[in-house]
Amino acid sequence: MLSLKERGIIRHIGMSTHNSAVAQAAADSGKVEMLLFSVNPAFDMLPSSEDLNRYFDSTSYEKDIGGIDPQRARLYSTCEQRGVGITVMKAYAGGRLFDAATSPFQVALTPVQCLHYALTRPAVASVLAGFDSIAQADAALAYENAAEEEKDYAGVLAHAPRHAYSGQCTYCGHCAPCPEGIDIAMVNKLYDLATIQEAVPDTVRAHYLSLSASGGDCISCHACERRCPFGVPVAERMALAHGLFTKPGREGKAPPS
Ligand code: SF4
Ligand code: SF4
Repeated sequence: MLSLKERGIIRHIGMSTHNSAVAQAAADSGKVEMLLFSVNPAFDMLPSSEDLNRYFDSTSYEKDIGGIDPQRARLYSTCEQRGVGITVMKAYAGGRLFDAATSPFQVALTPVQCLHYALTRPAVASVLAGFDSIAQADAALAYENAAEEEKDYAGVLAHAPRHAYSGQCTYCGHCAPCPEGIDIAMVNKLYDLATIQEAVPDTVRAHYLSLSASGGDCISCHACERRCPFGVPVAERMALAHGLFTKPGREGKAPPS
């Protein structure tokens, strides 16, 4: 592939996989420029596997789920930093997320909500939505004109009979507005991107320092926490983020094994 690229026969190298460990190796290689990777709120909870059926098996979600799988979080962070764009496949989990009976959350999401979840993950550039009827294509295209309330997957997941995102920021933006003008979802996203790596990446730190309002502006009014559907301790995280990004020599923690 590199030889073909050097000769100008191909211009870019991309790769497709459902396995987050394989995707991580590709992102780390510095040679793969984009990934076609499966992203949805259900798959995001599971560790890497060679067996796609495991992702579709409801028993996979019955235990040992606790928010986004650390390996996937690390993958998204690496892609964001290295400029490896992710094009999402399986954004609907094969349609299982549309039905409370087949969703691991026991609640139905709409195509627009699934698309919004995928498009708001770090490094995601686009989604390939599968369909086999014009009505299904229209349901995906409705994203273009959907109101924010229609895109709101967080409100649905937070009130689902089963969900595993307690205390974990999904970057949904429900907590806005902050009286100090902090983009809370962005600060949380940058904090997560930094702490999943062994050291705080310069690009992430620079992004944080360029924000017009940062975690250091938080006055701990806790208004945002009353609006957060996932019980995220926002004021505490604003302080942690500010310490991480502004104190010299501070480094991110090692990625979970
Ligand atoms: S802190 Fe809560 S409400 Fe705000 S973006 Fe994160 S999950 Fe959403
Ligand atoms: S607790 Fe901090 S981040 Fe949350 S609304 Fe108040 S000032 Fe903003």
